[in-house]
Amino acid sequence: MQRIETEIAIFGAGIMGAACAYEIAKAGRRVVLIDRAQPNAGSSGACDGYVSVSTKIPGTALRLARESQILYDTLASELGHARIEFVRRGGMMLIETPDDVAKMESHAGLLRDAGVEAHVIDRATLLAREPNLSPSLFGGLECPGEAQVTPYLVTLALVAAARQMGARTIWKAFPVAFDISGAHIAHADLEGEDGGTIRIVAEQYVFCAGVWSREIGALAGVELPVVPRRGELLVTTRGRPIATRFLVSARYLTAKLDPEAAKTSDDPLVRMGYGFTLETTPHGQHVIGNTRTFVGYDRSVSREGYVTILAEGAKRIPALASLQVLRGFAGLRPFVPDKRPLIGRSARRTNLLVAAGHEGDGITLAPLTAKIIASLACGRTPPVDIAELAPDRFTPAA
Ligand SMILES: Cc1cc2nc3c(=O)[nH]c(=O)nc-3n(C[C@H](O)[C@H](O)[C@H](O)COP(=O)(O)OP(=O)(O)OC[C@H]3O[C@@H](n4cnc5c(N)ncnc54)[C@H](O)[C@@H]3O)c2cc1C
Repeated sequence: MQRIETEIAIFGAGIMGAACAYEIAKAGRRVVLIDRAQPNAGSSGACDGYVSVSTKIPGTALRLARESQILYDTLASELGHARIEFVRRGGMMLIETPDDVAKMESHAGLLRDAGVEAHVIDRATLLAREPNLSPSLFGGLECPGEAQVTPYLVTLALVAAARQMGARTIWKAFPVAFDISGAHIAHADLEGEDGGTIRIVAEQYVFCAGVWSREIGALAGVELPVVPRRGELLVTTRGRPIATRFLVSARYLTAKLDPEAAKTSDDPLVRMGYGFTLETTPHGQHVIGNTRTFVGYDRSVSREGYVTILAEGAKRIPALASLQVLRGFAGLRPFVPDKRPLIGRSARRTNLLVAAGHEGDGITLAPLTAKIIASLACGRTPPVDIAELAPDRFTPAA
């Protein structure tokens, strides 16, 4: 058996594990990043890249997003703006019913209280900003500071930069056992795809396994109740620009925050957690979304999802009806029942850190999450209060 000793071993090379490896390597620590498949095998390779604050509930989620959004500027400079396709285009939340006008006024006020530039605009201003939108809309909530990246490029750039700073990477190897000694993880045994085995002996372990967190948590005796929540997206061929910023409908917020509504509603759109999104990639393709359903680990695009995304998208932007769809894909959002990510040090396993369960916000929250994990790994105080995010808050008698 091969034996590797390191200071910090990270499990999972999505955007979260890659960002943690990057920050920890930057702090001069020895780090090994392990993935049972390869970087971007999970949600980070099948999602949008909206670096958003307007889609967060005021309170913890908004505070974290705001901090992380600010960190993206520095991260983009370090990794290269063009390399991760970072653009500060801004975002617009579409107001689709007269009732939503007051709700969005109130949401904009809360965003401004949190230091975010946000204001509601009326229909005429909305159509002047985005002439391809349907005149049936009632206005928009404009957030000019929001940005967009290409998530899989961010992950790859973080992995490459971490490696340049000395991080070691192991792909296609998964942990089969953690040796526990008291409240401590002593070592992890990995099995490679080729049948080879590796023993990792680390001072600290970091779990960044996304929707597979429950599985790896169980191996280490920690309950990490992350559940997959599927999101479906359609990608068009390149076409003329039809929007100048990231567009999202106000009902996206409801779908995101109220999973219970999907169980009881008579409205098929509510049942499938539908909320319109449109991202224009730097290459001129349009990524149209979006659904939220609990269907286990099924990553296929449903017929219902495909049809709804196209039909509902064309109601908001009629020009979408004439675009050709190239492909559809689905990713799994790592959902936590109390809607807060699991970030911090485990009380049950004292040398275990966790960064998982970011649901639809992981691309936005990766820079801040990585700063928090690197601070804890290096014995420093994290940059923000993380008391509410304790990773084993669900573990009985933790
Ligand atoms: C349709 C959709 C749209 C989205 N849009 C946005 C958006 O616009 N903005 C935003 O901020 N967020 C968005 N998200 C959310 C975002 O994609 C996720 O929150 C984020 O990618 C999670 O990253 P992660 O690194 O935690 O998990 P993942 O990317 O899933 O990475 C987990 C990794 O762990 C590995 N792994 C699993 N188990 C083990 C193990 N036992 N040992 C070793 N490795 C293991 C997997 O192979 C995988 O590579 C969206 C998600 C979806 C599905």
